[in-house]
Amino acid sequence: MSDINGSNKLKQDIINKAKEMGANIIGFASVDRWDEFKETSPEYFPQNIWPETKSIIVLGIQIFLPMLETTPSIVYSELYNTTNRLLDETAYKLANYLNTLGHRAFYFPRDGYGDISILVKKPAAAFSHVLAGKYAGLGTIGYNHTLLTKEFGPRVRLVSVLTDAVIEPDELLNKDLCIKCEMCKRCCPASVYTTTETLIANMDKKKCAEYHSKLKDAYAYPCGVCIKVCPIGEDRKIYGNNAKKYLNEKQALATCEGIEEYAGWIHARNHGSKEVKSE
Ligand code: SF4
Ligand code: SF4
Repeated sequence: MSDINGSNKLKQDIINKAKEMGANIIGFASVDRWDEFKETSPEYFPQNIWPETKSIIVLGIQIFLPMLETTPSIVYSELYNTTNRLLDETAYKLANYLNTLGHRAFYFPRDGYGDISILVKKPAAAFSHVLAGKYAGLGTIGYNHTLLTKEFGPRVRLVSVLTDAVIEPDELLNKDLCIKCEMCKRCCPASVYTTTETLIANMDKKKCAEYHSKLKDAYAYPCGVCIKVCPIGEDRKIYGNNAKKYLNEKQALATCEGIEEYAGWIHARNHGSKEVKSE
C-alpha cells in the first residue's frame, strides 16, 4: 500500500513539475507496452536503448494554430524551433528532478537527425515519441502517422523521459481519434499519402523528406500542412476550423481568385524566407 501511495505521489510530483515548466500534456507508459503491442522492431524499444528503463514519461507542448496556418513561413519555422527547444529543456530539467529524488533518468531528444538530407536516405528515427505518446495514453495514431490528442489533435510536439522509477502507467485511449476525413491527404503539398484500407495511410516518407529539404533551403521548414488541416483537437474550440479555406488554398493561390482570404498567410510567407515553389 505504501509503495502504491509512494508511486502515486511521485507521479503527481512529476505532473506538477512538468506543468510548471510549460508542458501542456503529460502521460506515463510502462516499458512492457512495447513488448505487448510489438508495433516496432525490438531495437527501437526503450528497454533496448537503455536496459534500466521501467517507465517512459511523455511530455507534449502545443503548436499555436494561427502560426502553423502560415506554413511554409519563417513564422511557423521559428515556432517549431521554439517548441523543440522548450521540449528538450523541459525534459532535461525533469530528468534532473528525478535524479534529485534518487531515480536514474535521461531524455531522448525530440528529433534526432543531423540534417534533412539524412532523413531523405533514412526516414526512421531511433525512437518514436509518437508511439511513446500512444502507450502513455495521450492519444491515438491517425491516418497521417501523427499522434492525435484530445487537446490539440496532432498540433503538439513530443519528447520522452526514460527512467528506472516504477510509475503507474496511464490508461490507453480505447477509441481512435482519427475520423479518416482525409483532409491531410487532400491538402498534402507533396501528395505522399496513398489510398489504404487501413486507418493509418501508406505514406511515401522519402517524398515528404524531399519536400522538407526544399523548405529547409528556403528557410521555411517544416511543412506541417497535414497537422494544420486536421479537424481533431479542442484547440479548434478556441481557433475555429475553416476546412473550406484549407481545401481551396492551393487553387486560390494558383489562380488568384478569392486570394484576399489568404492575405495574412501570404504576408507572413513573403517575409524572412525565400519563395517556395509549389510541387
Ligand atoms: S485530417 Fe482527418 S484523416 Fe487526417 S489524421 Fe486528421 S482526422 Fe485523420
Ligand atoms: S509534412 Fe507536408 S509533405 Fe509531409 S506528409 Fe505532411 S503535408 Fe505532406
